[in-house]
Amino acid sequence: MRKKKLLTGVAVALPAAFLPAALLPTVLPPADAAPGRPTLAGLVTLKDVEPHLKAFEEIADYNGGHRATGGAGYDVSVKYVVGRLRKAGLRPEIQKFRYPYWRERSGPVLARTKPSRKSYKRGEDFATYAFSGSGDVTAPVIAVDIPAKGEDGTSGCDRRDFKGFKKGSIALMQRGTCTFETKAARARAAGAAAAVIYNLPGEDGPVNGTVVKPSRIPVVGPTHELGAALAKAAKKGGLALRVKTDAVHGKRSASNVIADTERGRGDNVVLLGAHLDSVEDGPGINDNATGAAALLAIAGKIGKLGKGDLRNRVRFAWWGAEEEGLRGSTHYVESLDRRDRDAIALNLNFDMLGSRNGTRGVYDGDHSTRAGIRAPAGSGAIEKMFRDYYKGRKLPTTESSLNGRSDYGPFAEHGIPVGGMDTGADGVKTAAEAKAFGGRAGKVYDPCYHARCDRVKNVHLRFLDTNVDGIAHVTQHLARTTVAVNGGARVQPLRDPSYRPLWQGPYRLR
Ligand SMILES: [Zn+2]
Repeated sequence: MRKKKLLTGVAVALPAAFLPAALLPTVLPPADAAPGRPTLAGLVTLKDVEPHLKAFEEIADYNGGHRATGGAGYDVSVKYVVGRLRKAGLRPEIQKFRYPYWRERSGPVLARTKPSRKSYKRGEDFATYAFSGSGDVTAPVIAVDIPAKGEDGTSGCDRRDFKGFKKGSIALMQRGTCTFETKAARARAAGAAAAVIYNLPGEDGPVNGTVVKPSRIPVVGPTHELGAALAKAAKKGGLALRVKTDAVHGKRSASNVIADTERGRGDNVVLLGAHLDSVEDGPGINDNATGAAALLAIAGKIGKLGKGDLRNRVRFAWWGAEEEGLRGSTHYVESLDRRDRDAIALNLNFDMLGSRNGTRGVYDGDHSTRAGIRAPAGSGAIEKMFRDYYKGRKLPTTESSLNGRSDYGPFAEHGIPVGGMDTGADGVKTAAEAKAFGGRAGKVYDPCYHARCDRVKNVHLRFLDTNVDGIAHVTQHLARTTVAVNGGARVQPLRDPSYRPLWQGPYRLR
C-alpha cells in the first residue's frame, strides 16, 4: 500500500528533503467551511495586505528610515497594529519587556603583530561576536585544543583545555560542539585577555555569532582559513595578535502585541506569530512587514467565519526585538505560567513572505531534510497541511529547515508543535528552484535582505498573495480542529531537554 519498496528505492536516489510529505497521498482536510460559507483564504485578498505594507514603509520613512526595536519607527508600528486590531473588533494587549542589546561603537581591529605585521579585513576575514566586550589587546596567542584537520572538535569546551594557559594571552579556538558563550567564558576564566574563535571547516566567511551575555573581553570570529593558519603559526610559537573592539551594551524596552479571537477554546490556542521589528539598516518591508501584514489581514477577516469554524481560539502575536535575538517571542513564552503554556496547541510563524527571487519554503516539521532542529511531534502534520493546500492549487513548495533562526524557536524549545513559511533571505536560488518557482538561479532570494532597499517595491506581491492564501487556509483548518497536530489534547509535552538551538535570531549560538 505505502509504496514501501518503491520508497526505499527512491529514498536512496532522492534527497530526503522531498520524500515523506510529497509521496504521501494528499489528505483533503474536512471541508474547511460549511458549504456556502466563506473560506478564510477566499475572504483575505491582497487588497487586505498591501495597504499595511505601505503604512509600515511610511512609518519607517518618517522615523529614521527603520522600524528597529528601541526606535520611534517600532513604537509607531505597535500603535498602527493596535489601531487596526481595535478597528477589526479585537482587543489587543501590549506586553512590555526589557531585553539586553549590544552595538559596536567603532570598527574592530584584528592584526598580526608577530612574527610579521598583517591587518585583516572586518566582514571579510573576521567579525565581532555580538555581546563581545571592549578592549585593545596585543598579546601572544595560545591555541586551545585545536581539533585535527577537518574535524569539528570541542576546542575550549572543557576547563581542562586551558591547562597551563598563560594569563594575559589571547586564546585561539575553533567553533564546534559547545556554544560561543561557553568558549569565551572559559577563556576569560583561564585569564585570557581576548578570545578568537574561528569558523568550522567548510563554512563560508567569518562567524556571525553571539556570546549571548555581555563578555568582559574582546571576542572575534575569523574565517576558517584564517583561523587555521593562525593556529598553525601559534603552535609553531611566536605568534602575537592585536584584537581591538569597542562596543556598548545595556537594556532596552520593547513590546509585543497580542490579540485573541473572542470565540474558540481558550485551552487549545492556535498561535500565529510574526516579528514586527526591522533591522536599523532599512524599513524591513519583506523582513518582516509581509508577515505582520498577513496576520493583520487574517485577524481582520477571521471574525467572519461561522461558529463551527472557530472551535479553537486563534491568537495573533506581533513580536518585538526578533532582530536582536528572538527577544519578544522568548519573553512571551518564558513569562507564561505552565497552565497558559499548556493551553497553546501550536505556533505558526511567518517571517519574510514576499522575497523577490524567493521560493515557497514550508517549515520542515517532519525533519525530512535532516537539517536544523527536530521539531516537536505534530509539526510534521502542520507541514503537510501547507503542502497539501499548494499541491491542490498546483503550486510548488519546498522545504525550509528549522534552524531556530526565527520566532518559532522558543515555542519548539518548550515542546510546542511549530509550523510556518518563509520565502528565503540571503541564501542563493538553485537551478532546480528557479525551474520550479521562476526567478534567477545563482542569485540571492532577497536582494534587499536587511538593507535600505527592503521597501514595498522589493516585495513580490503576487507571490505574497498566494502565500497568504495558504496561511489563511491552514489557520482555518486548525481553528476548526488541531487533532492532527496535538490530538486536540489539553495536555502539552514538557520542555524538550535535547533541544539545542543553533541560532538566536540573526546570530549563531554555536
Ligand atoms: Zn525576519
